[in-house]
Amino acid sequence: MRWMSNMAEILDGKALSAVVKDEVRSEVIELEAKYGRKPCLCVIIVGENPASQVYVRNKVKAAAYTGMESRLIELPADVSEAALLERIAELNADDAVDGILVQLPLPKHIDEEKVIYAIAPEKDVDGFHPSNVSGLWLGKDCIVPCTPAGVMRLLDSTETEICGKTAVVVGRSNIVGKPVAKLLLDRNATVVIAHSRTADLASVTRQADILVAAVGRPGLITGEMLKPGAIVIDVGINRTAEGKLCGDVDFASCAEKASWITPVPGGVGPMTIAMLMKNTIRCFKARQ
Ligand code: NDP
Repeated sequence: MRWMSNMAEILDGKALSAVVKDEVRSEVIELEAKYGRKPCLCVIIVGENPASQVYVRNKVKAAAYTGMESRLIELPADVSEAALLERIAELNADDAVDGILVQLPLPKHIDEEKVIYAIAPEKDVDGFHPSNVSGLWLGKDCIVPCTPAGVMRLLDSTETEICGKTAVVVGRSNIVGKPVAKLLLDRNATVVIAHSRTADLASVTRQADILVAAVGRPGLITGEMLKPGAIVIDVGINRTAEGKLCGDVDFASCAEKASWITPVPGGVGPMTIAMLMKNTIRCFKARQ
């Protein structure tokens, strides 16, 4: 059909995540041969949040695929903050553990910041510890949060030069918006960060050669808000009233305007998990 020729190319995060996981799989074999043990990722989940359970299951499944060791620690929703911190301290001291991830969000009675600070920075596979966050902003070689790292890998897979492009990041959270903006800045993009107080969002997004949406509002970004040919990365994971997964980007209208676009599901989500595997390898190597 003729109209198909104007459609964006799909940035297939599922396929790319398989490539990344295969890279990790090969590395695991090499590392075991060299050091006599496999990298080990430890995932802690507190309570029974269904979304968290899905994420954790997928992380453990991915670890198994790559051949690395993984441990899943399931704690009851009423576990005390002190008991959780004690488990983290044990894992920090355990030489066989390379990466520690505590699935967020945590129940209200537990201070997330305390938990993030408690993880040894060299085992912080999420890259949320302040020492890794400051490393990122100071341009040091450090652990980069998984979702932003996945966004960059998706962008690189388009083989588009990022240097000199205008990149607009919608969203300024510590876990996605801000680190993505810094990574784009590091690649010499001209970066604009938009947020809930941005006046006339559409006039800002229309400047974007690269648009990253990390908001949590279904369909916020529509085709008329895009510059023709933009690369669109949709980080959002939302559920419609019917329970269907969707992103922050209205896929149908944006696919008619963009050059590349990520789907939801099958875009950034699988890349986040693949980059977690990469971060675990990185932690293993740094600890040898
Ligand atoms: P937060 O809620 O922490 O941040 C949302 C950001 O969006 C805030 O900076 C907020 O602005 C901004 N915002 C809200 N409404 C608007 C609006 N109308 N116009 C412009 N900006 C707006 O979310 P997260 O960053 O944690 O997550 C964002 C989305 O990404 C969610 O859907 C989440 O589920 C998904 N996600 C997906 C991951 C993946 O692996 N694919 C991983 C992590 C998150 P302000 O700061 O002014 O409040």
